[in-house]
Amino acid sequence: MEAGIVGLPNVGKSTLFNALTSAGIASENYPFCTIEPNVGAVPVPDSRLDTIQSYIKTQKVIPAILQLVDIAGIVRGASEGEGLGNQFLTHIRNVDAILHVVRCFDDPDIIHVEGSVDPIRDIETIDTELMLADLQSVEQQIHKAQKNARTGDKDAKRKVEILQECHDRLAEGTPIRGLVYEDPASAKILRELQLLTSKRVLYVANVEEDDLLGEGELVKRVRERAAAEGGEVVAVCARLEAELAELDEADRAEMLESVGLTEPALASLARAAYKLLGLQSYFTAGEKEVRAWTIPIGATAPQAAGVIHTDFEKGFIRCETYSVDDLVALHTEKAIREAGKMRVEGKAYVMRDGDVCHFLFN
Ligand code: GDP
Repeated sequence: MEAGIVGLPNVGKSTLFNALTSAGIASENYPFCTIEPNVGAVPVPDSRLDTIQSYIKTQKVIPAILQLVDIAGIVRGASEGEGLGNQFLTHIRNVDAILHVVRCFDDPDIIHVEGSVDPIRDIETIDTELMLADLQSVEQQIHKAQKNARTGDKDAKRKVEILQECHDRLAEGTPIRGLVYEDPASAKILRELQLLTSKRVLYVANVEEDDLLGEGELVKRVRERAAAEGGEVVAVCARLEAELAELDEADRAEMLESVGLTEPALASLARAAYKLLGLQSYFTAGEKEVRAWTIPIGATAPQAAGVIHTDFEKGFIRCETYSVDDLVALHTEKAIREAGKMRVEGKAYVMRDGDVCHFLFN
């Protein structure tokens, strides 16, 4: 699962990306992370890890991470070849959700590519480019699907209908994300079209430091816009976050206090992005490490085990599980077991957020 950062030039994307990914994630713990300059890993802060650690003595604590891609190159006219042209498309097609950074800071020293600060216009500019790219893609796909439909292929017929519906929406200037099909077959067809505006969006309002607590007018407008499409907004000051990321823990706490925050805004941003991607965590807790693992909401116990190692999924027998609340109430796994709270779950078990697990496998 991966989120992509988009936004016009000079809105603070790189500043934010660098702040988010500078946490010095120990790469030996995350061998699957790609090593590319615009791809990074972001820890997802979770207080339950600290709670577990206060009862189970361990050598290290490893948080869940999010993969993030910095997608540069979207400017007005990009879909017609302006700027880097369509190069951004290859990156953005592959992400599962979008973090759309919008400039809400007014700083005469930083040039705005559109000449003035106006977050709603900026959102529309990016949306328009993405919709134009989608429109081109839909038109190409319609031709192919129509050909297949002529052979009497039922799925292809449905695909043509869905493509037509997408086409009409896009031609009206409406992104695809509001289009929801209840029947799973249609939903799958829509997903496989890989349209850019079908991806879920979280708006990141990049504000001035003074605006972090009291909401400025510009953020309010972004919130109204997001609410109208059922989306969410997180306000950050990218420049401040970049400074915070450079500090050691004591200095960071002091600086946070001086601006009236209890944690870096990046923490709430990481959590919101996690939610946007439809993800949750379960934990393993032992002497060597206490660790959060990422799974999609709805994953079964074998699928969850498979995140640790594919062999665990294949050879899955059962899992023993308890909740962090059980641990808080009873203090040790032994006491949890004795109180009859250690649940034994089989292959069909759908994981709950925050399960602490031991897997048994062949
Ligand atoms: P990108 O083109 O979207 O990647 O934008 P950058 O991250 O390169 O930022 C463009 C400029 O805006 C840089 O000079 C940043 O230092 C500055 N900038 C980024 N975030 C903030 C902010 O929150 N406040 C102010 N005043 N400047 C910022």
